[in-house]
Amino acid sequence: MIRPVIKRGDPRLELPSQEITDIGQAREIITDLCDTLIAIQGLYNFSRGSGIAAPQIGEPWQVDVMQFDGRWFYLVNPKIIAHSDEKELVPEGCLSFFDYRGKALRYADVTVESGDENGNQFTFSSGGDLNFSSLIQHELDHLGGELYTAAMPPGEQLVHHADKPFIP
Ligand SMILES: [Zn+2]
Repeated sequence: MIRPVIKRGDPRLELPSQEITDIGQAREIITDLCDTLIAIQGLYNFSRGSGIAAPQIGEPWQVDVMQFDGRWFYLVNPKIIAHSDEKELVPEGCLSFFDYRGKALRYADVTVESGDENGNQFTFSSGGDLNFSSLIQHELDHLGGELYTAAMPPGEQLVHHADKPFIP
């Protein structure tokens, strides 16, 4: 089911999400996240990657869905288990305030351990791809109740883009 995306300023985006143990419930959230993200992909051409986190549809559970370079990732209780030392500034946008863009400081490379939609654990890494690494950190930060503005260094400003489509 396509769900409305909760917008910045709603306190539900600022609460840490809970670990989810009911895999049936996790699957229902994954389905709604996929339906919602696919609908949004029809409004805007994400060049390489996009993602959505459960709290963005009002579900306070640790579930993310991401698509990067055509591949889908379904993440249940994901955790970053390793990262590079260095960080880099990466341009980001967020479905919860899509008409803004900003640059966040992100680890160049991360490795994630996560459950999948079947309850199996798996590990993957950004493989040295800075855009993938920033997407992963962005979506996992949502589960900690943080938007990318929390990763913007002092002096970086949000820039308004009036031309971006409204996300329902
Ligand atoms: Zn976001």
